[in-house]
Amino acid sequence: MSEEKRILVTKSSMPPFEEYVEAIKPLWDSVWLTNMGENHNAFLEELKAYLDVPFASLFTNGHSALELTIDAMGLSGEVITTPFTFVSTTSAIVRNGLTPVFCDINPDDYTIDVKKIEALITDKTSAIIPVHVYGNICNVEEIDRIAKKHNLKVIYDAAHAFGTEYKGVGVGNFGDASMFSFHATKVFHTIEGGAVTTSDEKLIDKLFRLKDFGILDEETVDCIGANAKMNEFQAAMGRCNLKHIDEEIGKRRKIVELYIERLSDIPRLKIWNPGRDVTPNYAYFPIVVDEKVFGHTRDEIMDELKSHNIYARKYFYPLTNRMDAYIEKYGNADVPVATWTAERVLTLPMSASYSKEDIDRVCNVIVQMSKG
Ligand SMILES: *Cc1c(COP(=O)(O)O)cnc(C)c1O
Repeated sequence: MSEEKRILVTKSSMPPFEEYVEAIKPLWDSVWLTNMGENHNAFLEELKAYLDVPFASLFTNGHSALELTIDAMGLSGEVITTPFTFVSTTSAIVRNGLTPVFCDINPDDYTIDVKKIEALITDKTSAIIPVHVYGNICNVEEIDRIAKKHNLKVIYDAAHAFGTEYKGVGVGNFGDASMFSFHATKVFHTIEGGAVTTSDEKLIDKLFRLKDFGILDEETVDCIGANAKMNEFQAAMGRCNLKHIDEEIGKRRKIVELYIERLSDIPRLKIWNPGRDVTPNYAYFPIVVDEKVFGHTRDEIMDELKSHNIYARKYFYPLTNRMDAYIEKYGNADVPVATWTAERVLTLPMSASYSKEDIDRVCNVIVQMSKG
C-alpha cells in the first residue's frame, strides 16, 4: 500500500471556523433551534436570490424534499425516470406507492434520453422525474414539450446541479419543481439538507405543512405529514457556505481544467465535458472506460488508484433497478445505454480543496496505465 497521502473521492468544503461560530452564537440567546427560525428564514431568502427562483422550501435533506414533493403533487400510477442515479430518486417514487418506469439515458451526458420517453407513456403515467446527472442539464425543452402534450408533471432531481444554468436560466426554474440536495458531499452543503424550488406557490404551502406533520395551525392538521424541517445549525452552515460558493465553484473549475488537460491526451478515454449552453458547477468528474479501446477495465483503474491510496467511485453502479431491493420487479427494464455506462463509469476525486499535486497524482496513474 502506498505511503502517499490518501485522496478520497470527495472532501466537504468548510467555511472558516470563526464565521460559523459567529453565525450560530445568537442561538445561545434565542434558543430557537429549529422550526423556521431566523437562520432558516434568512437562508431561504438568500437561496432564492442565488438560484434566481420565485419560491423555495427548505428541508432536512434532499431525499425528504423529493419524497414529499411527489406526495404533495398527489401523483398516481407510473412515473418515468432513469436508473442511472443515486438510489434516492427511485426510492422516493416507490415509497410514495408509485411504479417507476425506467427510461434509458443519453450516451453523451447520461441524462434521460428524451427520444425514448414517449414510448413509455401509458394511461397510468402521471409524471416524469429526470435527473440532472453530475450537474449535466437534461433536455429541458423537449421534456417540457412531452409533459405538456401528455399532461404530465415534471419534477427534476437537481441534487447535483446546484448553481448551474441553462441558457442563462437557473436550473431550478424548469419543470413543475426541482429538488436540490445540500448533503455534505455536494457542491454546496448545509451538513445535511435540501430544498425544493418551484414557481407554484400552492405547492410551497403544501410542502410547508407536509414537512411539519401536516400542521396548518395550533388546532388544525389537514394533511398526513412527515417531519423534514431544516434546523438552525444547518441553515447557518448554508448561509456561511453560500458566501463562498462562487469561489468554491471557481476552484472546482480549475481542478476540472487540470483533469481535461492531462486526460484529453488519452483519446481512448471518455471524459466529462460541459454541455452546450450550460453554465456548469463542476460537481463531478466522471470518465467512461471502454476496456476494448483503453486496454484496461474500469475496475482495474479503480484498483490501481487504490494501490496509490486514491479512492475513485463507481458512481453510478449498479443501476437502481438492479439493486437487491428493486431487481425482482424492475430488473428487466430496457436500458442498454445505462447498463453499458454503469459498467464502465468511474468518478474521479473531485473537491474544491484538492491541489494540483493531488490531481496530478490521480492522472499519473491513469496516464501510466494507458501506456501499457
Ligand atoms: C444526494 C442525492 C440525493 C439525496 O439527497 P440527500 O440530501 O442526500 O438526501 C438524491 N438524488 C441524487 C441524484 C443525489 O445525488
